[in-house]
Amino acid sequence: MKEITDQYNKDLSDAGPAEAVEYFEALFPGKCIFSTSLGAEDQVLTGILAKTAPGIRIFTLDTGRLFQETYDLIGITEQKYKTKIEVFFPDHVMVEKMVRSKGINLFYDSVENRKECCHIRKIEPLGHALKGMKVWITGLRKEQSSGRASAEMVSWDETQSIIKLNPLINMTGEEIWSVIRSEKIPYNSLHDKGFPSIGCLPCTRAIMPGEDFRAGRWWWESGSVKECGLHNNEK
Ligand code: SF4
Repeated sequence: MKEITDQYNKDLSDAGPAEAVEYFEALFPGKCIFSTSLGAEDQVLTGILAKTAPGIRIFTLDTGRLFQETYDLIGITEQKYKTKIEVFFPDHVMVEKMVRSKGINLFYDSVENRKECCHIRKIEPLGHALKGMKVWITGLRKEQSSGRASAEMVSWDETQSIIKLNPLINMTGEEIWSVIRSEKIPYNSLHDKGFPSIGCLPCTRAIMPGEDFRAGRWWWESGSVKECGLHNNEK
């Protein structure tokens, strides 16, 4: 697969985000799908898709533990772009079994527990959302973490066996916010309260100036990779 993704990256070396999306939609019509967490980058991508490829499906994973601000933004975004954001939920039997045996806030007890919770509430439903699709579009950027610095615009995701397209990979945070302001893109109000990266409520806190972009995620863990397993290639 590496040879193929290298070729895609070569073809798209001068392409902007919209061109990259159009390129893959032409190659795999109806088989590209975008996962949004409603974060700043994903909101920019939603705006791009609304203009250039409105037929591409958009989905989000509702872990059951999200911030109210995130739920509010789903509705606001659907209204603004006249689109539907498909919401995928975890398997309730798996969640109930986990919570009964390990507690409602199991993630604070160990990294292993946290990964189990992320697996049941995120990775499992992600697999359902990506089923039958060829290209998974994400809002990853190199700048977001040291683990993501080597990510490319196109890669092969081993876990989900799918081509992963990161159209915003080379954009800076400043560029993202400049687009949000100039195009009046709706964004999560938590970004104004010191949350650059927003995940589940019990696992995300605001960061201090100078702290790493993802320092507020699973902040009680030290030394572990600040990823939930959705983006395994970028560890
Ligand atoms: Fe569970 Fe926290 Fe992972 Fe959300 S971020 S799925 S609450 S461990």
